[in-house]
Amino acid sequence: MYFAFDLANYILTACSIDRAVSVLFPIGSRKYCRRQIAYTITLILFIINTLLNSHLLYGFVVLSANSTLHTSVQICHHRFDSDKYQKLFSAYDSYVDVIKTNVIPFIIMSFCNLIIIIRVCRSNSSINLNNGKYHSRTTKSKRKYEKDRQLTLMLLGSSIAFLVLTLPTEINDIIRSNSGEKVVNEKTYLLSAILLSLAHLNYAQILKNRIKTRQKLENNSSTNNKEDSSNSNENNQPSYSTSTCLPYLQIEYAVFTGSLAQCNIGELIRQPEGVDQNEWIASHIVSFFNHITILYGAISHLCTTSTCPIMIGPQNSLYYWIDERGKKVKYSAPQYIELIITFIQKTLSNETIFPTRLDHKFPSTFSIIIRKMVRLLFHCLSHIYAVHYHQLIQYELHPHLNSLFLHFISFLIKSDIINSDCSTVNTNSNSLRISAQFEIRELRTELESLSLLYQLLAKQWQHAYAQASALKRKASITH
Ligand SMILES: [Zn+2]
Repeated sequence: MYFAFDLANYILTACSIDRAVSVLFPIGSRKYCRRQIAYTITLILFIINTLLNSHLLYGFVVLSANSTLHTSVQICHHRFDSDKYQKLFSAYDSYVDVIKTNVIPFIIMSFCNLIIIIRVCRSNSSINLNNGKYHSRTTKSKRKYEKDRQLTLMLLGSSIAFLVLTLPTEINDIIRSNSGEKVVNEKTYLLSAILLSLAHLNYAQILKNRIKTRQKLENNSSTNNKEDSSNSNENNQPSYSTSTCLPYLQIEYAVFTGSLAQCNIGELIRQPEGVDQNEWIASHIVSFFNHITILYGAISHLCTTSTCPIMIGPQNSLYYWIDERGKKVKYSAPQYIELIITFIQKTLSNETIFPTRLDHKFPSTFSIIIRKMVRLLFHCLSHIYAVHYHQLIQYELHPHLNSLFLHFISFLIKSDIINSDCSTVNTNSNSLRISAQFEIRELRTELESLSLLYQLLAKQWQHAYAQASALKRKASITH
């Protein structure tokens, strides 16, 4: 029981850390907060605690004694032959123990709870900010405020309860070891027993609280989802209830910049009259490339060979780099993106592919090259969405990424890059035509992975744009 006593405190602490990490890093935590790792951590904690308490096996002996009732009684007692150990034990049992079993777990738990409280309150205030335009602010924020208050009280309460229930046992131990009383009487036994049972009660109440916290946190995201699905039902659009776990599919994080709500995307991607189709596509690709590299630049210090050893997109889809000989090569995400940037920069500055002089024409393979560039840019966006979205949320850059994504996909659909028929491409090389067909097929299936996000953003944009236009009309009527 003594072994388990300390262990339970540390398992509770580990639970707190787990919660805080999953709140701080919604995507990254899914890699680490797994059952197998939980078992390993529990085992490590068990071994450490056993080692720390193993001196008991040496320092205590079981004594058999005959009581007055002629039944043999077995008691556990200090070794009589080692004074040194007894002194060591009394220091260990009091001061070291209180730090080890109470102070350290309490500090860690309180710190983690504080992180959860701050994160939840902050994310809720940003929801209000972003959705304030479309939803009635007062009732929603009141409900959120009430939820925040309950969560804060519960987490603070569980920390304090932990201290109140476990500290008395330790204080009792300190008093006992300092009092020098050798004989243990009934009174002190009873006191110890009561305090010990209080300490054990602590685990039951904290575990219950932990389950409640989890439910609360899950509720928070599911209510947002419910609001979303009720909206989509009104518009007869699909609901996104499957999206709870992906932050970029959660309605509070699927927002775009205010300026995009004001402008007409249709106008933005319209091919101006008299402008060459290829010229129009080229200018868009250049600006998409610039914007994506700027956004990636903001989080590139967090995308390293150790954090992103493989280039992945949503649903853990793996992206291979195809080298000059057509061989698939696995690269880490920063290396892969570096290759993309170098390739696109080199292609953009190639006068035979992107001619700057009026008398030069675009090559016949232009659409194939564009498709490859588009696919690579899409991989870049997918990686940011799949792995680094929570970091963009922290920098409050996610509305920019979403605006860019909405513009990018709308352009792809409008310009027919995904749908165009390769057989019409006028090339002499058969292998080039086959690789172009492969490229289109791949691009189509890859776009599928973020199609839910596109639908969600497009729906929100339509809503915001309709409201902005209505306001503009109203303003022009009153003038
Ligand atoms: Zn990365």
